[in-house]
Amino acid sequence: MPYNKDSYSTGYYKEPGPKLDMENPFESMMERFRFAADLLNLDEGMFQYLSNPVKQVTVSIPIVMDSGEIKVFEGYRVIHDDVLGPSKGGIRFAPDIILDEVKALAAWMTWKCAVVNVPFGGAKGGIRCNPKELSQRELEHLTRRYTANMLEVFGPDKDIPAPDMNTNEQIMAWIMDTFSMHSRKTETAVVTGKPILLGGSKGRKEATGRGVVTVTLSALNKLGMMANKCTVAVQGFGNVGSVSAKLMHEQGARVVAISDVTGGYYNKDGIDIPTAIDYYSSNGGSLDGFSKADKITNEELLELEVDVLIPAAKEDQISKNNAAKINAKIIAEGANGPITANADKILDDKGIIVIPDILANAGGVTVSYFEWVQDRQGYFWTEERVNRRLNRMMREAFNNLYALKEKYDITLRQSAYVYAIDKVARTLRMRGIYS
Ligand code: NAD
Repeated sequence: MPYNKDSYSTGYYKEPGPKLDMENPFESMMERFRFAADLLNLDEGMFQYLSNPVKQVTVSIPIVMDSGEIKVFEGYRVIHDDVLGPSKGGIRFAPDIILDEVKALAAWMTWKCAVVNVPFGGAKGGIRCNPKELSQRELEHLTRRYTANMLEVFGPDKDIPAPDMNTNEQIMAWIMDTFSMHSRKTETAVVTGKPILLGGSKGRKEATGRGVVTVTLSALNKLGMMANKCTVAVQGFGNVGSVSAKLMHEQGARVVAISDVTGGYYNKDGIDIPTAIDYYSSNGGSLDGFSKADKITNEELLELEVDVLIPAAKEDQISKNNAAKINAKIIAEGANGPITANADKILDDKGIIVIPDILANAGGVTVSYFEWVQDRQGYFWTEERVNRRLNRMMREAFNNLYALKEKYDITLRQSAYVYAIDKVARTLRMRGIYS
C-alpha cells in the first residue's frame, strides 16, 4: 500500500485524546480527577499514586535524511497506569508535542479504558516532528528507530500503541514489523489499528460512530423516547459524523441536519443519509453544493430544536457563549471536547443529557481491544460478532454511568470519572503496593 502523505491522518483506528488547555494540559486533566477523588473520599496516598504516571520515557531518534544530513528527533512514551492490564494508547506525530500533553493524554486513556471495562491501563506517545515535511522513507525510518528505542516499553503484554493524530495503518504496520524483527517472530498484537491484512479487525471503520449511536439509543431509552420518532442533527461528516448519521438514519430517526467545514445542511423532512454519503465521497470529501437541503451555518445547526445533537467535528463548539441557546434533549459527544467546561453547568441546568466523549467515542478503543484479543487468539471474528460485542460493551458502560449519575445526582461526565477512578483504585487496593 503506497504511503500517501495527504492521507496520513485518515487512519480509522484513532485513539485521540481531547484537545486540552495548552497552558497546562496535565492540570486541566487533574481538575476532573480531583472532583471524582473528593466524591469517592480517595485517600491522599491513592490520589498521589493515580496522579503520577508509572513511567515516562524520552528518546532521541537520529535519522539520516534524504539530503544525507543527520537530524535528531525527540520521541516520548508515557505509561500513566498499568493496574488494569497492559497499557494502551495512541502515538501522535506533531511539531508542537510536549511531554506534559502526552502525560495528560495518557491519564485520559487510563480513565477511558476503565469506563468501557477494557482490561488496559493508559498510555500515550509521540514524536516531535512535522510529518508533512518528511518523505515516506524518512517517516518509515523515524517510525522504525522510535520503535527500536522503545523495545523494552512496547509489547503485547506490556504496552500496545495505536494510531492517533497524524499516524495511520501504515505506521502501525512498520511498528509491528520492527518489533517482530527484533522478537524473531511475528507479533501482531503489539499494536492495534493495523491493516486487516496484518491482523486488523473487521468493523473498525465504523466502530466510533457505532459506539456513539449505541449510547445515544440507551439515553433515548432512559427518557422513554423511540429512535424512530426522533429528530437528529450531526455536526461534522467525517468518519465519526457520517457513520453516526447513517446508523441513526437506519434506526428510523429523522436526521434533519448535517454539516462539514463548508457549513450546515437542513431539511425538516429529514435527509436521506446514504444519498448524502454518496454525494460527500463523489464530491472529494465535501458536502459543498448538496442540493437536498437548505444551507444553514454550523452555529445554527447546533441551536436547532432536535431530540439528539451529535457534535462530531472538533473541540470547543459549545461554550458559555452559545450553551443557553442549545435546544437538544440529548448531546452525544462524538468529537473530543466539543463542549467546554464552562458550558457543562449551563447545559445541565437546562436538563440536557450530555453523553461525554470519554464514553461516547470509546467505540474505537473497544474495537482496538477486540483487535488485540483476535491477534492473540489467531482467530478472527465476523463483522457481525465485532458489532454485537461492541454494542454490548457500550450499552453496559452507559448503564454503569447512568446508575452513578442517579446515585450521586451528578452529570454523566462526572459519573465517568467517578466510575473509572473507583475501578482503578479498588483494583490497586486489591493488588497492593509492591515494595
Ligand atoms: P474526520 O477528519 O474524518 O472528519 C472531520 C469532519 O468535521 C469533516 O467532515 C470536516 O469537514 C468537519 N469539520 C471540520 N471543521 C469543522 C467545523 N468547524 N464545523 C463543522 N464541521 C467541521 O475526523 P473524525 O475521525 O470523524 O473525528 C472527528 C472528531 O472525533 C475529532 O474530535 C476526533 O478527535 C474524534 N474522535 C475520532 C475517533 C475516530 O475513530 N475517528 C475516535 C475518537 C474520537
